[in-house]
Order: sequence, then structure tokens, then C-alpha cells
Amino acid sequence: MIKTFIGLVLGLLPLNLLAQAYWQQEVNYTIQVTLNDQQHTLTATEEIEYTNHSPDQLSFIYFHLWPNAYQNRQTALGKQLLQQNKSDFFFAAPDQRGYITGLDFKINGQLVKVEPDPKHLDICKLLLPAPLLPNQSITITTPFTVKLPNSFSRLGHLGQSYQITQWFPKPAVYDRQGWHPMPYLNQGEFYSEYGKFDVSITLPDNYIMGATGVLQNPEEQARMDSLATATANKTTFSTDLSFPASVSRTKTLRFVQDNIHDFAWFADKRFNVLKSAVILPRSGQTVTTWLLFLNKDAATWVNSLKDINQAVKYYSEWVGEYPYAHATAVDGALSAGSGMEYPMVTVTDPEAIIHEVGHNWFYGILGSNEREYAWMDEGINSYYEFRLNELENPDYSQFEPIVKNKKIRKVFGLENIHANNLNLLLYQMVGSRSLSQPVQLPAAAYTNTNYGAIVYLKTGMLFKYLAAYLGQEKFDGAMHAYYQKWQFRHPYPADLQTVLEQESGEKLDWFFKNLIQTTSPVDAAIKNVTSINNQWQVTVQNKASFPFPVPVAAVDAQGNILEQQWVGPLVHDEQVIFKNANQAVKIVIDPDQVLPEINRSNNQVKLNQPFPAQEKLRLQFLAGIEQPDRKQLYYLPVIGANTQDKFMLGLAIYNSSLIQKKVNYVLMPMYSFNQNQLNGTGTINLNILPRKNMGSTLFSFQVARFEKFKKYEPSLTFNLARTSVYSPDQQLRFSSTHVSTPIQLPLNNPDVNFEYNFAYTIPSVQYRISSKNAIKRISAQAVIDVLVVNRNSTTASTPVLGKLTLEYDRQYRPGKWLQSRFFAGKFFGDRPVGLGYDQFRLGLSGSQDYKKETIFLDRSQRSSSLTAFIHQTDNQDGAFKNYLPVYADRWLTSVNLLMDLPISPLSWYGDAGLASVSASSIQTKSGNNFYYGIGFAVKGGKLLQFYFPVVGSNYQNGLPTSFKDFTRNIRFTLNVSAYNPFRFLTNTLK
Ligand SMILES: [Zn+2]
Repeated sequence: MIKTFIGLVLGLLPLNLLAQAYWQQEVNYTIQVTLNDQQHTLTATEEIEYTNHSPDQLSFIYFHLWPNAYQNRQTALGKQLLQQNKSDFFFAAPDQRGYITGLDFKINGQLVKVEPDPKHLDICKLLLPAPLLPNQSITITTPFTVKLPNSFSRLGHLGQSYQITQWFPKPAVYDRQGWHPMPYLNQGEFYSEYGKFDVSITLPDNYIMGATGVLQNPEEQARMDSLATATANKTTFSTDLSFPASVSRTKTLRFVQDNIHDFAWFADKRFNVLKSAVILPRSGQTVTTWLLFLNKDAATWVNSLKDINQAVKYYSEWVGEYPYAHATAVDGALSAGSGMEYPMVTVTDPEAIIHEVGHNWFYGILGSNEREYAWMDEGINSYYEFRLNELENPDYSQFEPIVKNKKIRKVFGLENIHANNLNLLLYQMVGSRSLSQPVQLPAAAYTNTNYGAIVYLKTGMLFKYLAAYLGQEKFDGAMHAYYQKWQFRHPYPADLQTVLEQESGEKLDWFFKNLIQTTSPVDAAIKNVTSINNQWQVTVQNKASFPFPVPVAAVDAQGNILEQQWVGPLVHDEQVIFKNANQAVKIVIDPDQVLPEINRSNNQVKLNQPFPAQEKLRLQFLAGIEQPDRKQLYYLPVIGANTQDKFMLGLAIYNSSLIQKKVNYVLMPMYSFNQNQLNGTGTINLNILPRKNMGSTLFSFQVARFEKFKKYEPSLTFNLARTSVYSPDQQLRFSSTHVSTPIQLPLNNPDVNFEYNFAYTIPSVQYRISSKNAIKRISAQAVIDVLVVNRNSTTASTPVLGKLTLEYDRQYRPGKWLQSRFFAGKFFGDRPVGLGYDQFRLGLSGSQDYKKETIFLDRSQRSSSLTAFIHQTDNQDGAFKNYLPVYADRWLTSVNLLMDLPISPLSWYGDAGLASVSASSIQTKSGNNFYYGIGFAVKGGKLLQFYFPVVGSNYQNGLPTSFKDFTRNIRFTLNVSAYNPFRFLTNTLK
């Protein structure tokens, strides 16, 4: 019994080991396809040889039918494009969309049942007639026709320029973790099985093609060579971009390649062709490089040949040798970023060539799951892209191409900025605003900004940090080992970690767990420096929640590094001793700026100085890049005007610009020459709780003084965490607004001006939920204000005002919106009755702004045309565009519509409302009254909007009695906050 039992266990062992051994499926394709460049269709037949190397029996195979992503607006692609704020696919005519049709799947010649995916049009399941056993193969065949969409993403055509990508029926990957079916997405790439492709393409004879695989037709090879000679001999390129007519004769070009996982081709009759070659550093093998480009930007393209050659050469040296015969870059009309990689061929802008060619390694040869682990291809590839850019141009900085003028670079403090600093900048900008996301998330889970800031830039810098820590040689050796082990395979993050740990001999959890999988920022500081026997003893402090290694250097007066040491991975505090740094004037953490720190202000200490941690103060105009060796304070001259203060001149001074500080402030003193008075505002914000899932808590204190009012307002704002990019923004805010403002006492003698200082406090709770995409904006806002008048009198009443606003805006045609709004406000408890209380009432034609939130040009109502409330409105409360002096002390409700007209800045609006006013009110007719107003609106950019009331309750008998009656009813809104640079930056980064 025991013997049998042991025998059983032993018998199972080899099987267990086998199950853990690496395996992958093999998929070989033979495709014949014909392009119809009149109908923009592909007709094709496909034969797939599928071999099951897994230890499992397969009863079905998942297939991707990705051209169906373009079939309608409800596909995963259609929804994601809206979320990415792209509306052209939504508004595309049916004939501009695309799909795959004519499918007739057979397995080994037998008809097979196809089960459509319940959720995604571009996924289906082939139900196998008999289970596919381990190590068995089947032949899958089908004809298919693709209707090519316009260029909305990666597959499509622009006239007769063709980008044929993600175009044929393709099995999903089945690997150690099971099936990986995935709908086509714009943000979110792919995962495919390796195999051999044999593709024959029939198209009119005068097309020029770039494609995956090796061209098998000698005549076409000769034609490409002669085209390359012709282009090389050109000294000027015409600007002609028209399509020559297609000839009636066709050709069939055949491309063959083994060890690849996708096939793409690009065809255009207008391509210029350049050809070059790279001899690989180790094997001496030759790789042919091709550039196919249009006349547009030809001068840039001609110079781009070196980029493709350098990429092939250096990636081969740094990662592993390029295994294919050619690398091709094609000028394309792509709508999915500035470039897209396919095996051996990329469609790209000139600036992205190095990156896209580099994907041959991180995607093409190392075939990780891009959809789930985008950092494994985009991020690691970005590291090598940075490295090559720096090698080509040691002073490389991303600002050079953007800001060419040296003087302007100096004004903005952009001179002498390390490329590392710039590569990390976007991450620091989102990270400092609590908008960061982890490096390891599925591609579709990122915001637009984070996909670039985190997946590409931050990951690229993390690998630079890792390489600096391990040492370049050790890192390169480890990456070579990764390449050797995982080429033409499907590595997971754990596989990369295993190889890097084996090769480096170090545990790298701090990197793969903490830095890759969380948003926890790193922060190191110099705690203490002491001098003992001509040596510097430095205590470095880890202020992060996990251990990480830190480079520390002793630097001389000229900025040269005298001695550098890596500390850690340090858990808490650790000491370093600099023995050879007699001449040092400061100790600097991370002198090359490879640490992904957001806060670098605690990174240096000056030696033998009274204030060692004090940095040089630098006044910087507008905005700048934070530098660890200086404390920046920003300034911006501002002007202001209103009828009371007249012209005001001032200065905005603030301590945060691109990267937000934990404590940040804006001071904006403004001098009124008319009043001889200092006005202005000041705000200080404190980020008080740890930031997670793009949520944050902010304590804020604001003071303001303009015209005759003074205000201060503490507030606490909770920006609630978001679980996905599709989840709405939610904000809960508690505030207490204190205002003191003079009011006129109603005296019978108009010559006597008697002012009374009216002071009040408004404790308030505000909740707002909002969501938007390319075609709609939805929001709901609820506010409760308690109106407390600061007066010694016991008779003062304390009204409570509740307000609810619902908004729904819809883009009904490209660029044209229909905006709708519902408002209801009601007083609870006391009525706002008594001296000064009338400003608390609900305004039908805009609020009276008792919290002083809007910039009014004429709050004191001195002008006849700019008059606050009468001519300038804030579109709050009833939000009537027609001016009606209706102020409700019971309740008010309104519905507002605004619809853009075909002629551009013109819209029409319609407002309807009911106001309930008690008899004690003086200004307004008492009772429940109905009002309406209709007119035209004209937009003057984002800043200004004018309203021209045509009919409404404001006119006698509903219509203006004269032209003058019409013109004196014209009103406007002034949306200054649209130009608030701080809000603009945060909203753009969201
Ligand atoms: Zn990329």
C-alpha cells in the first residue's frame, strides 16, 4: 500500500515538472489578399496552422476579428475614443466606418461552429468539432473581406494611402495563465502568438509598399532599389501630395517571415524611398534599413535615416542582435499617437523613429502582454530611447526642439536642465497633484496623460535608476540574459525580475513591487552632516514607506562630483562617509537626478555655512522647472479693473508652478490708483492627507479685498478617489465664508450717503459629481448655505438656503452643443428679511454672489452698461439670460437651454422659471410667478459671452418696444477662471 502510494507520488512528479516547464502555442499563417483601392476593401483567404503545445486539451479557440471594432459606436473602441475626448469616430458616416465580413471558418476542411462573444463584436470563439490534444495541430481556413475605415486609429485609409494593421482573423494567446481574448482598443495594445507568416498581396502595379517579412519578388526588389537611388539623387522635393491614378495592371507581392507574431503592410503610390544598411556589432550580419515617406516634411525624413540605423545598431548592442533581414519605417497618417510598431515595420512620425524601431525588441522579439503590462514594452523601450538620444546628443533636452530661442529658454529657467529632469517632469506634475497611477496597470486603466507620464516616461526613468544602481555593465549583462532567455516568447513581469535578480545577485522587490506596482513616492533627505578628521559623515534619511537605494555625492565649488556612493536600499537612516572629499562645498543626494522623487528640495546641504539647507532664491517669471539647488518663487504681473477701484496694477507671486508643493500659495497684491488702496487676494493650500487613486484632501485658506468688501474663507476639500477612468469626479467641500461689506442705508435724503458695515458668515457644504467625454458632460451639484449675520441684535434671523443644479450637455453635431440645466433653490427656516438680507435671496437672472466668487466689473453699480447683476451675470441661481429683477425669498426653480446654431459663434437660448416671493418683499411682485426669456447668445472665446434677449417677461407684452429697449437689455458673462493657469494645468493633467 505504502509502496504503491510512493510510486504514485513519484509517477506524478515528472508530470508536475512538465506542467511547470515553459510552453507556447504556435500559429503559422498563409494569407492571400487583394486590395481594391476604389472600394477601399480587402478580399482575402487565410489558412492557419495551429499547434497546441500546451498540456491542456482545447475545446475552443478564441479569435480576434479586430476590423469589427470600427463597425459601430458601441464597440470597446467606440467607447474608449469618446472617453479619450475624440469625437470623429462617433460622428463618422456609416461608409467611413469599417468591419470584417464573409467569414466561413473550417477546421481541417470541416465547417465549424462560431460563437460570437456576448460583449464584443471583434471577438469570437471557434468551437472545435473534436478536442485539440496536446502537441496536435489543426488547419483553420476562412475567406474574409475587410471594409477599411477612415483613419480613426491604426487600421484605415486616407484616400489611397493604406495602413493595413490588425486586419486578419487571429487566434488569441493561450498561455500559462489561460486565454487572453481582448477587444481592439486605441489605448491598449496587443498580445499574439509566434509563428511563420507567408502573405501574398495583390494590388495595382504602381503602389509602393512597406511590410513585415522578406519580399520574395526579384522584380519588385529591383524596383525598390531603383526608387531608392532616385530618391537619394533628389536635391529638392516637390510639395505635391496628390494621388497618381492607379494603373490597371496588378502585381502580387509575397512576404515571408518566421518568428514573428503579427503582420502589417502600408501601401501608397507617392512614397519616396531611401535605403541604407547596418552591420551588426557582434555577428557582422547586415540589416537593410528602409524609409518610405511622402513629400511633406521630406527634408526631416531624409535626415531620419540615421535614427533608424542607430536604433538597429545600439539596441542590438545593448539588448541583443536584431534577428531579421530588414527594418523599415513608413510615413503614415496614423490617428493613434505619433507612431505604431509592427514586426520589422513601423508607421511613424520622424521624431518617433528610434522609439518605434526599438519596439522590434520590446514587443517584437520579447513578446510580452502589452495590454496588461504596457510598461514592459513602452517603458523599457523608453529607457533605451532616452539612452540613445543622450548618446547622440549629450546636451539632449526635450525643450531644445520646442523652445529653440536661447534667450527664451533662459527666461523660463530651461537652460542647463538635465534630460533626466525633463523625462521625469510630467510624472512629477501629475504625482504632485495626486493624479498619479501605478506603473503596472492594464493600459486601458490610465488617463490620457498618465499613459504617457507613467507608462513611458516614469518607467523609462525607473530603468535608468535601476541601471545606475546596478552599474551599466551589470544591467546590460542582465538584459542580455533576459533577451537570450525570452526572445520569441511571452515573458511576464516575474520572469524579468527573476532574470535580473539572478544576473545581478540582488533581491529587487523594492523595484518590482514598490516602484512598479504602487504610487508610493520615494523621498530621501540629508538629515545630518558632521566633519570628523577631514572626513564627512553624512546621515541619509529614507522618508518613503519602503526601502530604496540612494546615490549621495560630495560636490566641489565648480559642481564636479568628488566622490559618489550608493546607500541602501536604505530602510530608515543610514550613514555614509566621504574620505576623499576635502574640497567639497556641498553634499548632494542624487546629483544626476535619476531618483523618481517629486520633492527634491531636501536633496542638498552646504558645508561650513550658517544655513546649510538654505538654497539660493530665484525669482522666476511665470513658470519653470524645479531645481534642487535653488528655491524658486514665481511671479506674473497682473492688471485688474472695476468701476470702484478703476485700474489696478499688481503682481501674482506663487511658490508652485509645474510641480505642486505640499504647501502652496498664491499672493496677488493689486494697487488701486483711484482708491489709493492695496487690494488683492491670497490663497494658501495644504495637502493634508496621503494621496491615493487620484484622490486628495486639501485644506485651503483664502483672503480677498476688492472694491469695498473684505473676505476670508477657510475650506476643506475632499477630491474623492476614482476607481477607473470611466468613474465620475466627486468633490465634497466644507467652507466658511466671512464677508464684510458696506451697504447703503435707505435714507430719505438722497444727498446724504450713509454706509453701514454689514458682516456675515456663511458655513457651507457643497457636493459635486461630474463626468464627461467627447460628446457629453453631466454634473449634479448640491449646496447648503447657512446665512449668519454677525450682529449684536438678537432679532437677526438665520436663513438656510439649499440649492440643486443639474446639467446635461450633449454635442449633437461636430463642434455644436446643446446645453441643458435645471435649478431648484429653497429657503428653510427663516426668510431672508431685514436690512442687508436682500442680497441673500435667490436671483432669477443670476445670483447676487454673496460669497464674492465672481469677478464683476461693476459690483458697486456705478456704470450704466457694465452694471453687475443687471448687465453682467454669473449664470447662477435661475440663470436667466434676460434680466428680470426677481429675487425669491421662498423658492425658485428654472430650466435653461442653450443650443449652438450652424453659424459659428451664434447660439439660441430659452429660459423658463417659477419664483415664489413672500408679500414682505419690496422689489418683486409677491406670489408664485412664472417667467420666460428667449434670445441669442454670441460667444467671444472662452472669456466672454453676450446675450441678446429677443422675447421674454422682461419686456412689456413680451417684446421690445424699440431698438433701444432691445440694446439696453443686452447682457454678458465674464469667465475669468477659464484663464486661471493653475486650474488649467490641473484640468489638463486629469
Ligand atoms: Zn511605443
